[in-house]
Amino acid sequence: MKNFLLLLLGTLLLGGTNAGILPQPPPTPAITVTHNEAVLDFPQSVTFRLDVQTARPLTAAALNYSTNRQSCLPAQTQVPVTPTGGSLEWQWVLSRSGSPPPGAQLSWYWTLTDDSGHMVITPPQTLTFSDPRYDWQQVSAGGVHVNWYRGDDVGPQLLQAALDALQRLQAEMGIQLEQDVQFFIYGSANDMRDAVLYVQDWAGALAFADYNIILMGVAPSQLESWGRPTVAHELAHLVVGQFGWSCVGGSRPTWLEEGLAMVAEGEPGDAVRQDIARGIEADAFVPVRSLNGAFSAHSADAGIAYSQSYSLVAFLLDTYGQQAMQQLLRVLADGAAYDQALAEVYGFNADGLETAWRAAIGAPPRQILPTPTPINPALIPTAVPLQAARSQPTPAAAASPPPQSGSAGPCPAALIPPALLLLLLTAPRRRQSRPISNKG
Ligand SMILES: [Zn+2]
Repeated sequence: MKNFLLLLLGTLLLGGTNAGILPQPPPTPAITVTHNEAVLDFPQSVTFRLDVQTARPLTAAALNYSTNRQSCLPAQTQVPVTPTGGSLEWQWVLSRSGSPPPGAQLSWYWTLTDDSGHMVITPPQTLTFSDPRYDWQQVSAGGVHVNWYRGDDVGPQLLQAALDALQRLQAEMGIQLEQDVQFFIYGSANDMRDAVLYVQDWAGALAFADYNIILMGVAPSQLESWGRPTVAHELAHLVVGQFGWSCVGGSRPTWLEEGLAMVAEGEPGDAVRQDIARGIEADAFVPVRSLNGAFSAHSADAGIAYSQSYSLVAFLLDTYGQQAMQQLLRVLADGAAYDQALAEVYGFNADGLETAWRAAIGAPPRQILPTPTPINPALIPTAVPLQAARSQPTPAAAASPPPQSGSAGPCPAALIPPALLLLLLTAPRRRQSRPISNKG
């Protein structure tokens, strides 16, 4: 046995030094890449070009490309491309598939096979989508990158608005941003809309949640009135979306989604306070259960729905704290029905929430009929197509034609479920108290 081991060791050593074998010249590569590029014509197309030198003719080639969009499913696309001599070209027509936003990253590689069966995979390359029409500046802090080109103050001010919102989210809910977020601040809503194919002509902001990218049109004159609160609101959707990320079909009721985003905006404005006051006086609130799905398309009703959502979320945070809110987001992410999730965390369903909230804000009790069929989140679609971005209406000063602005401003986030991100828990902090009714 010992002799056998020595023999084996000797053989390995000899083999390792190639003893007894004549040195070989390095083999000539069968396929050599001489040129490999992707040319972006934003937002219309990407043209991939590859030139190779080959000892033998290519018989097969395929382009493999993907973006950094987050997805629960493999997102790579493979396209067979017919070689013409040593050149290959393929165009990704974005107008057919939907254009990734500026800031998105594309990566690609080619697989090539010659007629002897020799195969080569080119090294992966990357390209960042950019909008070349403007001379962009960037400011960054705390994982937030703000790109802008119009108005000296705009970038730094909106970065500060984003950082303030992150601080509130951490203080109020104990959740923080895990993945970097990019804002692209266009000088007007029109400039922004030209960057995106197939966008509603009233959109003033677009959230590409699965890219962690938000586009906004903010003229310098709208910085305070619209820019700052919208940055906070849209960022909150991303952060909450990261925390409640789910591949199992979990979703959140709209009142929770929008209420959390409004809490991130900070102290409620006069419009929200007035909505709550009117709701109490005139007993005009809608049933909480009716705020589970999309809000009314009518702007005024939507505005009140936002104010009521804010008040509901503020009540839950003030009364039960941030740990319970985090638990609710997690249980919902696991796919629980809304009533079931509320019951598990707070011990009441949507009707019980309504009763407790009404009592807390001083509204008269509402007669609530028993609900035999709880709303099943599985019935609410969660797939977001590539093109889909959550859009937010343009403020009246900049849009044509803008929607009438509701009290709190409708955010069609209510219409498209937020997409997917990741998020970290932070050590819970003491929350500042905040009014949940006009009395605060
Ligand atoms: Zn929203």
